[in-house]
Parts: sequence; C-alpha cells; structure tokens
Amino acid sequence: MIRKFISRVLGRKAAGKPSAPAVIAVTQHGLQRDDISRGSRRTVETLQESGYQAFIVGGAVRDLLAGLKPKDFDVATNATPEQVRHCFRRSRIIGRRFQIVHVSMGAETIEVTTFRGHHGENGGGKALVDEQGRVLRDNVFGSQAEDAARRDFTVNALYYDPSSETIVDYHHGVADLRQKTLRMIGEPRTRYREDPVRMLRAVRLAAKLGLSIDPEARHPIREMSSLIENVPPSRLLDEILKLLTCGHAVRCVEQLRQEGLHHGLFPLLDVILDQASGERFVALALASTDRRVREGKPVSPGFLFATLLWHEVLARWEPLRVAGEPLLPSLFLAMDEVLDGQAEKLAITRRISGDIKDIWALQPRFEQRSGKRPYGILQQPRFKAAYDFLLLRVEAGEVEREVGDWWSAFLAASDEGRAAMLLPQAPAAPRRRRRRRAAGERSAASPAE
Ligand code: ATP
Ligand code: MG
Repeated sequence: MIRKFISRVLGRKAAGKPSAPAVIAVTQHGLQRDDISRGSRRTVETLQESGYQAFIVGGAVRDLLAGLKPKDFDVATNATPEQVRHCFRRSRIIGRRFQIVHVSMGAETIEVTTFRGHHGENGGGKALVDEQGRVLRDNVFGSQAEDAARRDFTVNALYYDPSSETIVDYHHGVADLRQKTLRMIGEPRTRYREDPVRMLRAVRLAAKLGLSIDPEARHPIREMSSLIENVPPSRLLDEILKLLTCGHAVRCVEQLRQEGLHHGLFPLLDVILDQASGERFVALALASTDRRVREGKPVSPGFLFATLLWHEVLARWEPLRVAGEPLLPSLFLAMDEVLDGQAEKLAITRRISGDIKDIWALQPRFEQRSGKRPYGILQQPRFKAAYDFLLLRVEAGEVEREVGDWWSAFLAASDEGRAAMLLPQAPAAPRRRRRRRAAGERSAASPAE
C-alpha cells in the first residue's frame, strides 16, 4: 500500500527504479485476442518471432476494456525503428523528431513506436523545454517501464500481449478503469507543464470513457489553463478536432466549462461556450455530430467549425445589413472577420476555411427558389454540407421549416417534379422593398431572407 502510494506520488521519479508491473491474466481482464485487429496481431507476432518485445498499447487496450470500439491499434516495441523496418516488407519510417514506423497489413496501417524513455540520468541528456516548462523535444529510447511512466494517464499505460493474452500494467490502470477514475501518472502539475494539451486530453478521455478525473489531476487545471495558450496552434487544432469528433462532444464541452478551461483559451471555445444566441444551434450541432460519429458516419471539420462559428458571423453580419450594406458582400466581410479572429490561436487550414466559407455563403441562396437558381445551387461542390447546415438552422428555429422541406423535396424530385416546384419569379423592385423592411424587423438569427 505504502509502496503504491509512494510510486504514485513520485510517479516519474520512481520510474527509474520501477516496481515490477502487474501482469494481469485474461481471466481477470476479459480482453479477448479476437478483439484485436488482425493487422496489429500479425505485427506483434512478427516482432515477437524476431525476438523483440511487442505489445498493443495505449488507447486501444483502454477502449476495449471500457467496452468501446478502438479507433486504431498502436504497437509498442523494444525494437528500434530500423529494426522494425527490417521485419516488414511493407513498412516505412515516418517523422523526424521521433521516428515511428507505419506497417501496412492489408488495408490496415499499424503505427509501431519504440519504447520511449525520459531525459535525465538514464535518458542521456535533458529534455529541451521552453520558459514555461513545456517539453519541446522528447526523443530518447527507453525501457518498457520508462515508456509506461511517460504516458499521461494510468489507463493509457496498458500493454496487451496477444500471445499470452496478458496485460502488463505498471500504474494500476486496470483498477483505475474499473473504478472509473482518470488518474495522471506522476505529479499532475509537472505533467501539465510539460505538455498543457494533457488538460484537454483529460477532459476528452473522461467524457469519452465516462470517467471522473481524479481530484489531484483535476484541481490544477483551473489555475494552469492559461498554459494552453503556449501550445502551437496546429497541435491545438488537432486536439480540438479530436475533442469535437470523439462522439461525446456535448459532454466534453460541458466538462470544459466545468473545469474553467474555456475562458481566454482561444476564441473558438469562448464562442461555443459563452454565446447566448447560438447556444441552441451549437447544442444541436454538437449533438448531431455525436450522433454521426457514433453511427460511424464521417464528420467534416469544415462543417463542424462552420456550425460553431455561425453565430459569430450572424452577430457581425446583422449590423452591416441593417445599415443597408449589400447582402452578400457584407456576409463575406463578416465571414472573413470571424475566421481571421480564429487564425491566431487555432491554425484552421486553408482547406478547412475554404469549406467553411462555402457552407456559409450558400445559406442566403437557399431562399432563392425560382428560375434557374436552385439548379445552380445544386451544382455547388459543398451543396450537401450546406444543405445539412440549413436543416440544422431549421431545427434551431432560425429558418422557416417550409424552406428546409422545400429543399428536401426538391432534392428527391424528378426533373419534371423539380420544374413544377419552382416558385414564381417575383418582380424585382417590390421584392427588394419588402426584403429591407423584413431585415430590419428580424433578429440576427434569421439572416437568410
Ligand atoms: P484516442 O486514440 O482515443 O484519441 P489515445 O489515448 O489513443 O486516444 P493517442 O493520441 O492515439 O491518444 O495516443 C496514444 C497513446 O500515447 C496514449 O494512449 C498515451 O499513452 C500516449 N499519449 C498520447 N498523448 C500523450 C501526451 N500528451 N502525453 C503523454 N502520453 C501521451
Ligand atoms: Mg489512439
């Protein structure tokens, strides 16, 4: 008990002289060999046949134990990347900073990582850190025990050996998972300083697995949250995307709010969590994303960010429209302002921002249901996403249901059916007058007139 306590408190320091790990038999953990993908099993077996240690590791073991379907199966080994490379014909080394090997097995790609150590007396040098203590480089090979100690949470430091069907568990991860606790390996403050993204990972993993974050790991988050500002924008984008597409975005966002992790972090989260007007829209968007992910349907980052930022756009567009600015140019102006505001902290790629703009720009055009216009809209490359977006706005009460129904029927209709559905062309002048009056009366939530 005392030893367990000490090793938990000292965490990584204890990792230099680790206590023997628990080796948990299949009768106790229940994870079956057949739960593991064929490709990752073959990969482990091939490495073992060549005399190396090899295990399925990390998220896959954790997710299977928790009864979830893993996203992918990663392998950890004591073979160096070069040695792994030699074991598999279809494999290549990727990454410069820390090399990993991608092994192709049929349609599967297995990521094989050499056990990583920590810097210091055994690691042969000091880790390179920035002024806040964030680890910039972390690329020393190590033993399995060291590899376990440098992982973030105990439930992520489990090694499954399909040959013996045992789980090697250095940090009581199996017990923690059973007790529904997300526990940090080592001293949480140090681990957050080394890598502030771990705060977001804590929130995501707790939400995804239905775990509660251990108080020791939870308490420092509020006071340390500003360290996230220090993380490179592209890494933040990756992590935010993971969080929003893990199938539990609604729960994640609630948890972020609880932990005080949204304020001043980066504009996107402020927008999602603080806006009053768009709360219903964002809630619907996140719930529908969760549904799609759980049904195994793809979720595009462009669509996701378009939904999350839409009410920002409306808030900027509305005053311009009320001031009599032309409809579409003022929408484009509002869109650019919103996306520029995000760019500083969250590196939304050009491709994603292109998708976002396409989806937004089509929204006012859905009102155009006469003449050739609807056919033109159907031809737009992002039509399907923009149409899904329209349906979300209908659901949120922003757009008349009749408009959404009309488009659904138009999509499903034959050529003749479509022609019969077109609305009569309104004479230009009176229509414009009517529009202006309507725009002035409407709230920001109904832009698509
Ligand atoms: P998921 O695949 O569901 O996103 P995951 O835990 O597998 O979750 P990955 O990013 O795939 O996340 O990482 C694989 C493993 O690498 C983790 O299980 C953990 O052991 C380790 N790991 C990942 N990120 C960190 C980190 N920031 N600090 C320490 N260990 C990490
Ligand atoms: Mg993973």
